[in-house]
This record gives sequence, C-alpha cells and structure tokens, in this order.
Amino acid sequence: MIRIAILGSTGSIGTSALAVVDAHPDRLRVVALGAGNNAALLAEQVRKYCPEVVALASGDGVDTLRGLCDPPRTVASGAEGLLAVATCPSVDVVLCASSGTAALEAVLAAIACGKTIALANKEVLVMAGGLVMDAARAHGVAILPVDSEHNAIHQCLHQRSGADVRRLILTASGGPFRGRSRASLAGVTAADALKHPTWQMGQKITIDSATLMNKGLEVIEAHWLFGMPASRIDVVVHPQSIVHSMVELRDGSVIAQMGITDMRLPIQYAFSYPERWDAPVPFLDLTRMGTLEFHEPAWDDFPCLRLAYRALEAENSLPIVLNAANEVAVDAFLRGELGFTAIPDLIAATMNAHTGGVADTLDAVRRIDGWARDRARAGVRELQSIP
Ligand code: MG
Repeated sequence: MIRIAILGSTGSIGTSALAVVDAHPDRLRVVALGAGNNAALLAEQVRKYCPEVVALASGDGVDTLRGLCDPPRTVASGAEGLLAVATCPSVDVVLCASSGTAALEAVLAAIACGKTIALANKEVLVMAGGLVMDAARAHGVAILPVDSEHNAIHQCLHQRSGADVRRLILTASGGPFRGRSRASLAGVTAADALKHPTWQMGQKITIDSATLMNKGLEVIEAHWLFGMPASRIDVVVHPQSIVHSMVELRDGSVIAQMGITDMRLPIQYAFSYPERWDAPVPFLDLTRMGTLEFHEPAWDDFPCLRLAYRALEAENSLPIVLNAANEVAVDAFLRGELGFTAIPDLIAATMNAHTGGVADTLDAVRRIDGWARDRARAGVRELQSIP
C-alpha cells in the first residue's frame, strides 16, 4: 500500500489524483490532504477518505470545515498546515498540486523527511530549482514530474544517460489564441483566455497557457528536472496535444510519448513508478485523431516564451523575478486591472529593474520574490494611472 499526501486536494490535479486513488483502492491510500479555501469540498473528501491530517489556507476555513464534518485530530492552517500535510510520518509520496509558490517550504520539508515527491507544481522549481534538486540529491529522494510534458520526457528518457540526449522537445498546444497576432490580442478578456482548447485546468495555468508563459516556465522546469541547458530545450507547437513531449537522441532518433489528454495518466505514473498499472481512462485511437501538426512557436506574438529563455540563460536569480512578476500580472489580468498584452510588458519591466543577486538560500529566494512582487504591483498601479 502506497500512502499519499496531496497538497492542493480540491484543485484540478488534486481531484484527478483522488480519482486515481479510487481506481486503485488496493494499492493507494490517502493519508493527508491540504486545500486552499474550498472547505466544502475538503469536508466531502474527509468523509470519504478519512485522512490522518488535513489543512486549509486560513483559520476561517478550518472553522468552516469543523462545521461540515468530523475532522481528524490534526487540523492546521496556513504554512503550518502545508508542513503538517507534507511531513505526516506515515506518508510515502507527497503530490504537490497547489498552484503558485506557497508550497516551496513544504516540499523542502517533505524531501528532508525522505518522501518521494510527485511534482505537479512548476513554480516551485522555477523559483528554487537549485535548492529543491540539491536537497533531493542529498536525501536520495526522487522527484517524479506530473506536469504532462515532463512526465512524457521522464518516460522517453527511461533512465537513459544524459550523454545520449541531444535535446528535449516540449510540445505546446498554443493555447486559445494560437494563430492570432499580438495586435489582435490587446482587447481579449479573462473569459476569452480561460477557454483552453485541449486541457481543463485551474485559472492561473490556463492564463499562462494563453500567454505561452506556461511553456516558458516548463522550459525552466525541464532544465532543473533533467539537468539540460536552455540551448538543448526546444518548444514546438502541437495543437492536438497527443504527443506530450519528445527526446531527441545523439543519433537522431526521436522518442515521443503519446496519450489522451487526461491528467490521471501522469499522476498515476508518478504514484506507480517504476511499475505500470491499468488506468481508468480510454485508450488512444490514433486512426480517429486526424492529422498531428507541429509548428515553430510565434515568438513575437507571445513574448513570454522568450522572456523565460532569457531568465534561464541569465543563470542567476532572474527566474524568481520572472515567476513573481507573472503571478502578479496574471492576478491583475484576471481582475480586469491589466490588459492581456500588458502581461509580458509588466514582466519584462520587472526583469529589467532587477539588479541581480544569487539565490542560494531559502531566505534569499523569498527576499527576491518579495521584491519582484512589490515592483510588479507598483507597475500595475502605474499602468492604471495612465488614462
Ligand atoms: Mg504542462
């Protein structure tokens, strides 16, 4: 029996992970659940899975939860709650499925406790990939990628030596605005951007998919997970989302991983690794898929992708600034305070204002992250004051 903790159990990945648990009750057991603010759904999950530990973002959320179910003895909130879920002694695998950077400390604590990490959250690696991967090496902990592209690359690499790999090729759906010019995107709304063509996901990642920042963050994520420089990580737009990513070997062979677009597959892979289990999803029928297309990304229409390469190539703390400014920009866009094409402008302006610095400790990472958020919020206010 593999005992699971989920950070972000009420979100899109979290609920898919619980569906995987439901399909394998003889192999998987839920031991700890952490959620943001959705106390009602967490209460349902508590009644169904009887976890030993639960956590919510706020104390108010915990009060609501207590009114809705009979919670376990350990109920916590805030950063303490995330830590309690991630370090619960009986847990084998921690699935990090929360969005944003709040779970960074919890992931590091889980690694220090020797837990296997199933990582669905990319911001943690973008912000502190060096710290996380160094800690995983020091504690002999596996980081298994759940992000579908990195999960695909993990499958294609199949423990192959890095010397045999020429480049990693991440596929991108292109998002809802594929084929549109930057000029035509100035007036699009959050509702337009939230209509993703192939994946059902949370709001933050769906907006990131529309700007192509999601792919940019994934380039940085791939760098840390697989030890590849930016120059050996490429992106191709593949609107059908059937090829989840590829690895090109030194002899020119390209290994691709294909499958239907269902996050239960990469989640189950991370839970079952190195085994393979039957999956509760339909099989892929390639004869019904039609044509599979592959295109160069529209770099100039979607500047976020190039910004992410610039941050990674800078080899200092610039990815922290990129990520923090992007979170502020996406939040402002969702609230109608920032235009769609102003998202990359705000991120670039924040990156340009950054004066460098090494982020080799958690304190340094949080300090640079805090500076970038303040700078980006000031940038939003400046843009709003322009009539
Ligand atoms: Mg992805």
